Amino acid sequence: MVFNAQRRARPVSTATNMGQASSSAEEVPVLIVGGGPVGLTLALTLAQQGVAAILVERNPSTTTHPKMDITNGRSMELFRHLGVADELRKVAVPEDHPFDVSWVTNLDGWELARFRYPTPDQRRALIRECDDGTMALEPAMRVSQALLEPALKNILETRAPQIDIRFGWALHTFAQDADGVDAVIRCSATGETRAIRAQFLAGCDGAGSVVRTGLGIRLDDIDLRRLAVRELGLGRLLPAAIRAYLDDRERPMDGRIFLIHFTSPNRELFERFGTAWHTQSPEGWTLISQNDRDTWTLHALLGAGTDADAIEPKQFLFAKLGVEFDCDIICANAWRPRVSLADSYGNGRVWLAGDSTHQVVPAGGYGMNTGVGDAVGLGWMLAAIVQGWGGHRLLEAYEAERRAVAIRNRTASARHTLVRLAIKTAYRKVIHTEGWNGERRRRRLGREILDLGNLENEADGIEFGYRYDSSPVICSEPHTAPADHMHAYTPGTQPGARPPSLLLEDGQALFDLFGLGFTLLRFADLDVDSVAAAAAERGMPLKIVDIRNDHARRLYERDLVLIRPDHHVAWRGDTVPDQPGAILDRVRGAAPAWPVRVAHRHLVDSTN
Ligand SMILES: Cc1cc2nc3c(=O)[nH]c(=O)nc-3n(C[C@H](O)[C@H](O)[C@H](O)COP(=O)(O)OP(=O)(O)OC[C@H]3O[C@@H](n4cnc5c(N)ncnc54)[C@H](O)[C@@H]3O)c2cc1C
Repeated sequence: MVFNAQRRARPVSTATNMGQASSSAEEVPVLIVGGGPVGLTLALTLAQQGVAAILVERNPSTTTHPKMDITNGRSMELFRHLGVADELRKVAVPEDHPFDVSWVTNLDGWELARFRYPTPDQRRALIRECDDGTMALEPAMRVSQALLEPALKNILETRAPQIDIRFGWALHTFAQDADGVDAVIRCSATGETRAIRAQFLAGCDGAGSVVRTGLGIRLDDIDLRRLAVRELGLGRLLPAAIRAYLDDRERPMDGRIFLIHFTSPNRELFERFGTAWHTQSPEGWTLISQNDRDTWTLHALLGAGTDADAIEPKQFLFAKLGVEFDCDIICANAWRPRVSLADSYGNGRVWLAGDSTHQVVPAGGYGMNTGVGDAVGLGWMLAAIVQGWGGHRLLEAYEAERRAVAIRNRTASARHTLVRLAIKTAYRKVIHTEGWNGERRRRRLGREILDLGNLENEADGIEFGYRYDSSPVICSEPHTAPADHMHAYTPGTQPGARPPSLLLEDGQALFDLFGLGFTLLRFADLDVDSVAAAAAERGMPLKIVDIRNDHARRLYERDLVLIRPDHHVAWRGDTVPDQPGAILDRVRGAAPAWPVRVAHRHLVDSTN
């Protein structure tokens, strides 16, 4: 797909003083700061909407750190809508490889438990068979962030002429006024500075965001150690810590993780128990297979006071995995996961997305995936405002919608982390021994792991069930929302929800019929000319899609369903509204807030 071309940024004429607006400043609708997955996805979204942007990234190239290793089904649906899903899959783990999670004593020992998950190919077959609206349109994708980022960047460079990508340039200063933002960017190699005048600035600049700090926005952190004490109890944590010290002189964890990214030709060793995406140990390490061929990443908890710089990576790797093997270390370092959330997502002309607003423990994969949702949400809203048909209330809605999702996802991430910790407290050294006692302990621990379950890779409710029902630009319906569960997605079209995906009689995906702007799905013979006229009057892109399919009508619950550019339901009804303009003004952010009367809902973890 070639993205709509609108106007490109005007070329730079001269460098300016730091922080100074200049008559020679380059002008652009949107300046994106940060070329990680979120900044790149925002650029794709703007490109698809035909809006020009400059993207600056302080590093000369995309990340070499493996980081994210699962792009979930919801992100893949959004990438499909952006027209890039198939291309991204070319750099992913092949489609006939499973997503199994295996718990082992170590690589040389015993398998304790295995959670089996279908391959993307098998998942597609399931999607075709089970057309009840509960399935994602796209299977999740196993891919390292180190491969995904270059793929996204390449798509932008080859197909999005209106996006000007500048790696090796950092945001230096910015200042906003009522009409836009004056920014100064600086070349990381030469120190040269240039001035940019943008209508909007998007801070996709990661956990240490200079945009967030520049706006004076605070991060709220959850202290995982305190949470563990509260939820698991000292009665469980202390004996485990004492045992670990007496058995192995292991000091209590201090929240850091040591990462070793390596290649090895010994695939048989890593697949001794069968192909697994994650191989995990109750001692507190996870081995991620990055390509089921020759590249893996170990993440292992570190004890307090351990000098990470003094760790010899190969020895650490062999000690954790319980066996020596040929390998080359790509990188090794300590890192500290955080569970944090920004107090606000921006204001005026400057907005944030991705890790600049929320950070989670990777369990569940809610880091980048939450950021992809932010990028798509912010992207269409900025495009609507830049193109003149969207009102500024959209940005107020962006914060309300996406911050609520981040709260929900960090709750889930913390919950999954506690499950991992609970398994660690059940560890006994004897599981490494032959004989009846070792065997008995392994069986008991395996059962315990299976009982605790693996919701971190099964939480469809988190990935697909989030709704924007308290958003000011959603025509919310109180009292129609189903219960909210972490583990299950309940298909429905309550305003704010992601609508159900289904395949029509000819095999075509309903989602693929949605337009780039708003889409009005019409399931009955209703005259919607007045809606089309009201949209045209407002310059608002609206595609009317006729569906005559009883199954689809049942799943979509109303004769008319209005879908937003980010595939969320904005409004629904069985009759054409008397004043369609009032509805359209609401959903394009140009009307006073919808009176939100949605009862407070609790996210239910009904798995234990
Ligand atoms: C070990 C690990 C495993 C993970 N696993 C998963 C997973 O399976 N699934 C998942 O969804 N997430 C996962 N994550 C989280 C995921 O990596 C992050 O959520 C994701 O990288 C966030 O993307 P981002 O674009 O918001 O920020 P980043 O990836 O941090 O990108 C921000 C970019 O902004 C640039 N930048 C910063 N300051 C400036 C400036 N002043 N000017 C210009 N550029 C600037 C940075 O150089 C960087 O490239 C994992 C993270 C880790 C560490």
